[in-house]
Amino acid sequence: MRDLTGRTVDYLRLSVTDLCNYRCIYCMGEEGVCKLPHREICSIEELTEMSRAAVACGVRKIRLTGGEPLVRWGILDLCRMLRDLPGLEELAMTTNGTLLPQMAGELKAAGVDRLNISLDTLDEARFRTITRRGELREALAGLAAAEAVGFTGTKVNAVLLGGVNDADIAPLAELARDRDLSVRFIELMPIGECADWPEERFRTADAVLQAVPALERIGQDGVAELYRAPGWRGTVGLIRPISCCFCAACDRIRITADGRLKPCLHSRQEISLRGLHGMELEETIRQGVAVKPLRHHLAAGGSDSPRAMHEIGG
Ligand code: SAM
Ligand code: SF4
Repeated sequence: MRDLTGRTVDYLRLSVTDLCNYRCIYCMGEEGVCKLPHREICSIEELTEMSRAAVACGVRKIRLTGGEPLVRWGILDLCRMLRDLPGLEELAMTTNGTLLPQMAGELKAAGVDRLNISLDTLDEARFRTITRRGELREALAGLAAAEAVGFTGTKVNAVLLGGVNDADIAPLAELARDRDLSVRFIELMPIGECADWPEERFRTADAVLQAVPALERIGQDGVAELYRAPGWRGTVGLIRPISCCFCAACDRIRITADGRLKPCLHSRQEISLRGLHGMELEETIRQGVAVKPLRHHLAAGGSDSPRAMHEIGG
């Protein structure tokens, strides 16, 4: 699919739930989410039908996200059904990793190709502070489980939280020294829970280059600038939605767990896909792509999206 400016759109981020077992300070309120009535959340069959239509329109990669995708009832069935879609080249998932010790093997068997595991610190106390209820050892066990069942090309995603996890940048990057991992640092975006945070929380990705001066630029991987230090096995990626807006290369659309197509993460624009089938569903997805906004306006005042990150999926 192409939008009106000629950008190719072939990547769908599918949010399967707005619920989560963590309460990360920048993503969700302490009290969690007000659980939506069951009927407002798409069934596994509806999510599959929307994905099938997106693939028929030209989507080649689907990433399952949330909330936490692994708390979604029926997630393995969904993975199996998506994996069977003709034309889908990659099925990936972004997870906080806590349920991977139980589920990594089943996810692999269900056809998930690659995992992104979110990990913002390697310090136990800070992990508790950031996630409000998680334990570092759970996330590390999740990462180990993914490796043990044979996932390759796993990415560790860390959000840069100025004044909170600055001391974690170097230790997190070091995860890529001896392992086939890409550790990616993401600039915090002012949306939802952290929309009104003070400026000092929003570090640019240059902080990574200062913390790990040995990093050398080796190229680009999608939206991530790619670096490696001499002798390291893995890579370090910098994702700069704020300091280097990459909207001109944006290749993605999103579908929320309540069945709304979001052509842009930071736009108010949402198009309901629920109740649509066949050609009508496909045509609505194509129209959504056609009107994809040119760019976000984060630097000029924040996100226009009324939704929080856990309702969209990142
Ligand atoms: N629960 C899963 C997880 O944490 O990996 C998937 C959903 S989470 C919303 C997806 C990603 O968005 C995570 O890597 C999270 O750190 C990131 N994220 C959440 N809020 C963010 C924000 N305001 N700016 C940048 N990244 C954010
Ligand atoms: Fe949950 Fe992921 Fe949001 Fe943390 S970032 S609260 S793990 S959805």
